[in-house]
Amino acid sequence: MNHSHSKALFARAQERIPGGVNSPVRAFRGVGGDPVFFREATGAWMTDVDGNRYVDLVGSWGPLILGHAYPPIVEAIIEAARRGTTYGAPAPGEVELAELLCATVPSVEKVRLVSSGTEATVAAIRLARGFTGRDSILKFEGCFHGAGDPFLVKAGSGVETLGLPDSPGVPAALAKLTLTAPYNDLEAVERLFAEKGKDIACAIIEPVVGNMGVLVPKPGYLQGLQELCRKHGVLFVLDEVMTGFRLARGGAQELFGLKPDLSTFAKVVGGGMPLGAYGGRRDIMSKIAPEGPVYQSGTLSGNPVAVAAGLACLKALAAPGTYARLEQLGAMLEQGLKAEAQAAGVPVTLNRVGSMLTLFFCDTLVYDYTSAKKADTARFGRFFHAMLNEGVYLPPSQFEAAFVSLAIGEAEVAHILGAARKAFRSLA
Ligand SMILES: *Cc1c(COP(=O)(O)O)cnc(C)c1O
Repeated sequence: MNHSHSKALFARAQERIPGGVNSPVRAFRGVGGDPVFFREATGAWMTDVDGNRYVDLVGSWGPLILGHAYPPIVEAIIEAARRGTTYGAPAPGEVELAELLCATVPSVEKVRLVSSGTEATVAAIRLARGFTGRDSILKFEGCFHGAGDPFLVKAGSGVETLGLPDSPGVPAALAKLTLTAPYNDLEAVERLFAEKGKDIACAIIEPVVGNMGVLVPKPGYLQGLQELCRKHGVLFVLDEVMTGFRLARGGAQELFGLKPDLSTFAKVVGGGMPLGAYGGRRDIMSKIAPEGPVYQSGTLSGNPVAVAAGLACLKALAAPGTYARLEQLGAMLEQGLKAEAQAAGVPVTLNRVGSMLTLFFCDTLVYDYTSAKKADTARFGRFFHAMLNEGVYLPPSQFEAAFVSLAIGEAEVAHILGAARKAFRSLA
């Protein structure tokens, strides 16, 4: 495959954009080599600037559950833009989207629209702190909640203790307020709450983790966490930025029967445009300005073009059979990939929930940060490039979820599995 135009663009990009990309994981640092630049995409396929075509299993990291350039979304965007791209004043679509969100996700009684997942999680944490009057928060090792300061924290040495900054620029004093515990370990949370529960405003979690690769919650884990939170007056915040409208129409909370105090959304809810949301209990959400004292604002919040795209996306997903079809596609890929790996003698652990999946290059179970880190990232890198060369675009990191879209059909599944057969054999 020729990538000369991508290489030339990347050389120019690196002169003027840090690392040549506007979001780090796009840079292929996790797999080696140079990133591919794209010129267009429709349905399940993307075309790069050298004319190579790929079946896309990234879906812009989650939003594109209907595939690229889905015609009703494109038309909604064009139509909205013709009526003005932003008013800086309320518009009817915001009310419609808020009503639709509340009707679809019953724990959400009031909702505020923002422009990204990061904005949603940062605002939810401020609100949880403002509502409870407590300063600390609990997050789980390896879970990602966007690039906000409170989340760029890693565990202190070994145990569930005070966090340390994960990035220069995050003050140690702030990181100390972010406590961490391992995912899928309720006892760790029990111990932590017994000691520090009174200082903790909220626990925030990815219900099904996508950001260390896909991790599946153990049976009862999320329900147990919700109960522990209630017992200690800790708000239970479900970060559904990745899972919302993807795992079920009502998100992971519908799938696992949860009732979080607050939830955050982005990705699918914006239909591929910059849009996020946070919402939840009426009494908590009523603390947001101008109804209450907790400040949060945004010049382009509830942007009419993004709202139109989000509405078109959510309406399309309401069609009967949507989530059964995503499950069926996910299962076909899971079974096919496992069979190809086995035939080539390559040990893998495949984690999947619905249309989110990760192929870990290890032969042990992966259920938390420590077990995920056992995966052979060099081997994943070789597999990634072999797949790329065969026309399949996977997330360029072992620790990211692949996403199946409704644009994928039987032909694309066959293409992916044919590529995987060659890729696995090249590793053996
Ligand atoms: C992507 C993601 C975010 C951040 O969303 P952005 O729109 O990239 O700011 C937050 N939480 C989770 C679970 C995500 O997957």
